[in-house]
Parts: sequence; structure tokens; C-alpha cells
Amino acid sequence: MTATIPYYDWITHHADRRPAGLAIHDLHTGRKLTYRQLDERARRLAAHLQTNGVGKTDRVALLAPNCPEYFELQFACGRIGSVMVPLNWRLTVPELTYILGDCAPKVLIHDSSFKAQAQALQAQCTIPHLLEIDIDRADSSYERAVMAASPAPTLVPLTHDDTSTIMYTSGTTGHPKGAIITHGMTFWNVVNLGIPAMISPATVQLVVLPLFHTGGLNCYANPVLHAGGAILIMRAFEPGAALDHICDEALGITHFFAVPAPYQFMMQHPKFQDADFSRLQMAGVGGAPCALAILEAWAARGVPLVQGYGMTETSPGTSMLDAADAIRKVGSAGKPFMHTELRIVDEAGRDVPRGAIGELWTRGPNITPGYWNNPDATRKAFVDGWLKTGDAARRDDEGFVYIVDRWKDMYISGGENVYPAEVENVIFQLPQVADAAVIGVPSDRWGEVGKAVIVIKPGETLSEPDVVTHCLARLAKFKVPQTVEFVEALPRNATGKVLKRELRTQFVGTSAPAIT
Ligand code: ATP
Ligand code: MG
Repeated sequence: MTATIPYYDWITHHADRRPAGLAIHDLHTGRKLTYRQLDERARRLAAHLQTNGVGKTDRVALLAPNCPEYFELQFACGRIGSVMVPLNWRLTVPELTYILGDCAPKVLIHDSSFKAQAQALQAQCTIPHLLEIDIDRADSSYERAVMAASPAPTLVPLTHDDTSTIMYTSGTTGHPKGAIITHGMTFWNVVNLGIPAMISPATVQLVVLPLFHTGGLNCYANPVLHAGGAILIMRAFEPGAALDHICDEALGITHFFAVPAPYQFMMQHPKFQDADFSRLQMAGVGGAPCALAILEAWAARGVPLVQGYGMTETSPGTSMLDAADAIRKVGSAGKPFMHTELRIVDEAGRDVPRGAIGELWTRGPNITPGYWNNPDATRKAFVDGWLKTGDAARRDDEGFVYIVDRWKDMYISGGENVYPAEVENVIFQLPQVADAAVIGVPSDRWGEVGKAVIVIKPGETLSEPDVVTHCLARLAKFKVPQTVEFVEALPRNATGKVLKRELRTQFVGTSAPAIT
């Protein structure tokens, strides 16, 4: 199938249909791009890349905090068939060297704040071209390149099977893997998500997750741009500022999406109780288990958090609640999207009965064909076209999916499976708790036992016996953590997910679960 316009180049359509419509508002700099401006800048960037020898399937990497250039590059690549590689700027130079060595980009576009890293990476990975974005300088090399280039690159015909992006996974459980994202996957994510997330040309979304992560890019920024709505980008999440933006009538934010941590930090902020959420139509949450205490605190403020489940490898939409079910089915990640299939299976790959816990497998046009340069990981991830997610899940009697936890984070205590997310839910009920995570640690007697790692709210006190007594009253004994560590903060990755492997290294001396 050949496209008449390149996939991903939805802005060309909107530049024609709604040229003056707001596409992107960078809240950090105040810069706004209409669809016409975004379209023209993407075309010019595409032409510049072409002049520098970037062709179909060539990679262009981006190392920058959240900024409109992510979308300029994405739509530039969409015109000429090249592949965007957004990089996690929290990684160290040796980690980025591994990734750039893996994907060998022809160009590295970087923010001026990462100049030293970019120069080191260029030398180590022999990257032919660097382009620097500098928000304070009109004559940055990126800006000069965009302004000097022709607005008419040579269009490259593409199909849904062509690669648009290599997106590295969050690295929560180990080294990030480069998931190949095709134009078709992103398209089907838009189709799947658009209606349940109520996305329309009137949507105005506040984007706080990093744009190098599928949650930032696709929940819902790309679906919003596909619809002709507007995205408002925060360079970095800050709970007070995010609440101010959501309450700001002039900005008119209707949509918000985040992993649980930003919701948790906002609800602990003094501005939360008086915040005006009346314009918010959709507040989506996913990417990690969300404690019931978070869902309940937001519901009490009139905001039902609509849970969804997904992975980088699934672009990411896999299942989602409808807003109407968000309260009734609190804790559920909903039902599969229209064009995505789900199964919950046992170790032999047989469907488990309703109510039983098994591994979630998924299939559909939104699923990756595999990992870049990593046939071994690709082979291990699939069975007969089904992606094995590595997540434990169950369905209730109405077919609603509940994500239980990652298999890798489950531990076995006295022969019983313990899913830390369930224990964390109970710990979060304690009003003194600001943050909490549970890991399994080795035990001579039980194989493994739980250890809770807790951050106490400022001015509060809490002891190990308080936590154990609270859990004993609410959980079977084998699930109750035997020890508690109090810490200043939990280690989190750039998206805000708790890094349990770091907790295991700190408290057990190994990053691997005790029993696998
Ligand atoms: P890596 O694969 O590199 O270890 P990661 O799995 O965190 O990192 P992502 O692709 O960002 O990388 O995240 C997908 C994972 O996030 C899922 O496999 C699942 O474990 C978790 N997740 C996503 N949505 C939910 C949800 N609603 N509830 C619980 N966990 C979720
Ligand atoms: Mg993963």
C-alpha cells in the first residue's frame, strides 16, 4: 500500500484545513506554533536533512528536554522516510553511546544544554552531523538550517510497514530496548485511543511526560495533533505549576495524561484542594500500577482518573477504561481497544479462566514488529504473533482487565505469590505515607519476604510496627512486609516509574529478583 501523503504528516492536512489553529504551545518559552508554521518548519527541516544525505530509513537522533522540535523532527521524518530516535536525556554518555552505536544516526539534534554530551557522542559514535537547538538564540545551527532550507523536500512514498521511530523502552527492568515503531502502529494507536479518550479538534492537552517516552509522545500528543487539537508542553513536570496550568482558564486545558507519580505529587500539593478542575474532560493514567489511594483522592475532587494499560512496544494503547466506568471499575485498566486483542494465559500459553491471574499477551496492528538490532529479544517476546508483555493480569466477570503487577516484581513467600502492587495499595492508605514501594528480599525461612521502602510526609512520623500492624489487619500474613526502610525519596526513572531494581541493589545487593 502506498500513501498519497506520508503517514505521520497529519499537520499538512491541518495546515490546509485550519492554518491558524494552535498546534503547539511551549509553556517554557511561551512560543506558539500554528499548524501552518509547524508544517512549514517540518518541511524545511526535512529538506535540510535531505540535503545532508539523510534518506529513507536513515536515523536522526534527538537529545532535548520537552520542546516543539520533537514534532518538527517527527513530521520532517514523516516526509522523507527517515527514522526519529528520541533519546532519554537522563542517561549517561556511556549509556547513550551504546544506543547511538546501536542505531548509528546520520544526524544528532541536541539542545544547547547537552552540548558537551553531544560533542562527546559525535566523536565516539562517528555521527556525521550535529544540529544545536538554542531557545535563546535565533542563529542556532538548528534555526539557521530550518530557515535556510527549501520548504519543498522530495516526498518519499511510504507504507504502514515503514519504520517511523526507534523508541527505547523505559529501562525500568533492565537496559532499554529499541522498539521499532512503524507508521502503521502510530496510526492505529490514534484510531484506538481517539474515541475513548474523547480527542477532537477542540482538545487542548497539557503534556508533562517526557516526549522521548511513548506516554509523552502518544498519550495523547500524537492523537491530539492528528485530530487538529493543541498540545501545551511543559519542559519538566512540577506539581504546583502543572496545577496552575490546569486551572488557567485562558489555556483551557481539557486533557491530561501521566503515569501515577505526577498525580501523586499534585494531590500532595497545597494547591490541590482548591484547584479548579471544571474544564478537564479526560485525566488518563497508565504506565505503572496506580495506588487506589491516588484514584480515590482525585475522584473525591471530582476527577475520575481513567486508567489505561500499554507499553512502548504497543505504541502504547492496549486497553483503557471508558470515562463512564472510571469510578465503578476503579483499579481496572479497562477493556482492549477496538483494534487490539488481549489474552491472559498460563505458563503453557492456555487461556486462564475469568478471575485467574496469568500473563497478558496482546496482538494487533499497533504492536511492534520487534526490537532494533536485537533478533534474540524479538524472538523471546513473541509466540505465534502474540506479544508476551511480562505483566500479570486478570479479568473480572464483566471482562474488565486488572493489571496485577510485573512478573519480574512478583515474589514468592512461603510458596505463595505476592504482587507488590497489592501491598503498596494497602501501605498508601496510611495518611503519613508520601511514597512507597515493596520488593521481595531473600529469607532463609520463607524463600522471600517483603520489604517496604517508605517516604514519610514532612512533619509526620511512622514506625515499622505501625506499618506492619496496619498491613496485618488488611492482608494475609504472607503478604505483610517483614521489614520497613524509611528513605528520603524513591529512585525513579525519567517517566516517574519506581526503579525496583535499584531498590533491590540497595537493600539486597543484586538488581535481580531473588526468585525468578
Ligand atoms: P523496560 O521494558 O525497559 O523495563 P518499561 O517496561 O517500564 O521499561 P514502558 O514500555 O514504558 O517500559 O512501560 C510498559 C510497562 O509499564 C508495562 O509492561 C507494565 O509493566 C507497565 N504498565 C503500563 N500500564 C500499566 C498499568 N495501567 N498498570 C500497571 N502497570 C502498567
Ligand atoms: Mg517493558
